[in-house]
Amino acid sequence: MHMRSAVQSRSEDFTVPASESKRQTGEMAAMVGLWILGLVILLVLCYCVVPNLWIRVLRRGVVWRGPGRAEIALTFDDGPDERYTGRLLDILREAGVPATFFVIGEKALRAPQLVQRMREEGHEVEVHGFRHLPVPLLSPARAMAQVGRTHQLLRDQFGVHTRWYRPPWGLCNAWSLFPAGRAGHRLITWSVMVGDWRLTPPQELRRRILRRLKPGAIIVLHDSDKTWGSQPGAPENVLAMLPSLIEQVRAQGYEFVRLDRWWPKGS
Ligand SMILES: [Zn+2]
Repeated sequence: MHMRSAVQSRSEDFTVPASESKRQTGEMAAMVGLWILGLVILLVLCYCVVPNLWIRVLRRGVVWRGPGRAEIALTFDDGPDERYTGRLLDILREAGVPATFFVIGEKALRAPQLVQRMREEGHEVEVHGFRHLPVPLLSPARAMAQVGRTHQLLRDQFGVHTRWYRPPWGLCNAWSLFPAGRAGHRLITWSVMVGDWRLTPPQELRRRILRRLKPGAIIVLHDSDKTWGSQPGAPENVLAMLPSLIEQVRAQGYEFVRLDRWWPKGS
């Protein structure tokens, strides 16, 4: 009698009550959930965030300035825009300044005459994207198509062979770090950006640019206000300050060049 009760009580020690087993299953599920969440966060970081630290902060795998000669490159993003780009081309032609335009494919389709003018008036035309989309949020295939489609369009309709890709807002994903992820194009950003997509007084824009001017500077400006985040009318101020900026930059002994002066085609 005495022995049986001892065995009974021992077996009770090893029986896990139902509530306890439920708790353990719950803990296990929470842990698996945490692991999955951690993995998703890690993948997002690796795909969307780290590549941008890599190119924007460490400036690796990207061109952001030219050689240290008394030359600077003027570049314009987001066009062609029917309201501003024609007048911008007039100013550049008047001053005899060559520039590089990073165009949006669907806008080039809407205003082919402006892309034609860029070509005829001695400017370089390169790829900004088919639409102005945030590349870190695009799948590898969609991100690649943004470059490929624009490249094809510019080649087939305008005879332009593009080599450079400046992704919208200068943001890329992990796949764009590989040449295949950007249809073989070289990645480029800038060394001087002055917030010209906001309504900033012309003299303030000019002051900011002149303050940061260095040999080999790549200046980015915008010839459209249709992009998300830009203020309506902002390019008016760019157009207003450009003639005097050109004059003052030249007075400092700098020459304006296209990217192919620094990196000849075929190099
Ligand atoms: Zn842009």
